[in-house]
Amino acid sequence: MSTFDNHTSVLSGNSTSKNVGPTLLWFRRDLRLLDNPALYQAMKAGPVIAVYTLNDQQWHEHGVANGQKGIIAARVLTLKDQLNKLSVPLIALHTSGYKHVPSQLVKLAKQYDCASIMFNHEYEINERQLSDSVKRDAAHHSIAVQSFHDQCLIEPGQILNKQSQPYKVFTAFKKAYLAELRSKMRPIYGAPTKHALQSNVQVQSDIRCVEEYLKNLSLDYELDLQLYACEATAHEHLDEFCRHRVQNYQQDRDLPAIDGTSQLSTFLAIGVLSVRQCYQAVEVSGHKSRDGANTWVSELIWRDFYRHLMYLYPRLCMHQAFKQKTEALPWRHDEHVFLAWQQGQTGFPLVDAAMRQLNQTGWMHNRLRMVAAMFLTKHLFIDWRLGEGYFMSRLLDGDLASNNGGWQWSASTGVDAVPYFRIFNPTRQSERFDSTGLFIRQYVPELASLDNKSIHNPSNVQRKQLGYAQPMVDHALAVKQTKAWFKQLDDTAVNQMSLERV
Ligand code: FAD
Repeated sequence: MSTFDNHTSVLSGNSTSKNVGPTLLWFRRDLRLLDNPALYQAMKAGPVIAVYTLNDQQWHEHGVANGQKGIIAARVLTLKDQLNKLSVPLIALHTSGYKHVPSQLVKLAKQYDCASIMFNHEYEINERQLSDSVKRDAAHHSIAVQSFHDQCLIEPGQILNKQSQPYKVFTAFKKAYLAELRSKMRPIYGAPTKHALQSNVQVQSDIRCVEEYLKNLSLDYELDLQLYACEATAHEHLDEFCRHRVQNYQQDRDLPAIDGTSQLSTFLAIGVLSVRQCYQAVEVSGHKSRDGANTWVSELIWRDFYRHLMYLYPRLCMHQAFKQKTEALPWRHDEHVFLAWQQGQTGFPLVDAAMRQLNQTGWMHNRLRMVAAMFLTKHLFIDWRLGEGYFMSRLLDGDLASNNGGWQWSASTGVDAVPYFRIFNPTRQSERFDSTGLFIRQYVPELASLDNKSIHNPSNVQRKQLGYAQPMVDHALAVKQTKAWFKQLDDTAVNQMSLERV
């Protein structure tokens, strides 16, 4: 178990620190005004100066997509305007890496004689270490620090089984999670109260480094940054989904050709929306049948499940498989094959449509994420870590916990993952979830003229005529080989266990 603090509010700094002066509020992946615990508490305490640290080196190291960087930068610009209306100046600092963030925050806090620094927790290992460093540096300078749980419905580490161990099966976790969620009211923080800075504190917003960064950022495709940069728009989308679409979510969520899911993941990933707001909105949505709403809540809980696990098993942030024995799988190294998958040229229409959707829009439907990930790992037998990295480099909603969780689920290396012998047949998936080929026609236009049957698996002649790739692998052979590799792992583990017993 982790030795980190339990992420309730933590007050540090020595007791002689003066409780005067503004609070320095540090924005991270919580770029919103509403339901922002740290901002709410800071504004309740008095005047606030806000700071955002732009860490492009860290983004680079984490392989963050340019699209997501652009959205974050655009969001910081609109956040400045929102904060100005509350008399909160926003200062953006360009830091070359996490190493310098604590000293820069402390320097700023001292410059404006801030009584404390407040921020919300993040649960990835680097981010947790950063939080701890900020606390240490601030304490060293007698600046109080208060930090808050924010990113999940229930704080990581709070939901454990009867043996005080993490749940490793989703259904059991979900049951305990829902019971805890429904056992008491959970606060949603409203709009922060306005507190003007004292007249002797002269501080102006300064986000020039973010403006400059955005100006020089090249996006790989056309992207409406303003859509994601607006908190009100996020709420309109949430409201629209809960009013009109959530009731059909259970039936529609697997069909990539229709807007059956909320598409709120990007807002959630950068913190323009909170998961609590989503949960509250769907809980009061008042449709007669709760099937859609309950299924959607399950998805929100999957998100939290992966975050809780990442918190409890930091090695998940370090490119390690949850099931350690799977590290012995003899993944294949073939750049040519990996590239064909990335470019949507595998010769499997649904996989190709999925990858092209990702490349052209920065988003991919959940069903297709599973299909594409399973195809890479189980048909092409390429290491899930490569696929995880590629998704991260393209996704607008790229999120370490969910992306890692989804990849390890698909590769059968993760917690409560799909059993290794249940391998999706991409053609069958296509017939089931895109039966008329509507989605394939949109992203693989060279196949648009085919009938509803052959579009899922064109003949060799059709492929040649239409200039579409031949299938990269034989489904049955690939599946047989992959099962054999996994089975060998199981056999080795059984042999090792028998040896240990002897
Ligand atoms: P909805 O169906 O409307 O669900 C609502 C919210 O619940 C989502 O916005 C998301 O926050 C959460 N959610 C839904 N499904 C899952 C899930 N399976 N796991 C975790 N959270 C979920 N999600 C990301 O946010 N970022 C990622 O980087 C990411 N990578 C993935 C990689 C793979 C291989 C797989 C299989 C899944 C991945 N997911 C990821 C989960 C899921 O595909 C997306 O959250 C979902 O497609 C987003 O669309 P939506 O907002 O319309 O979801």
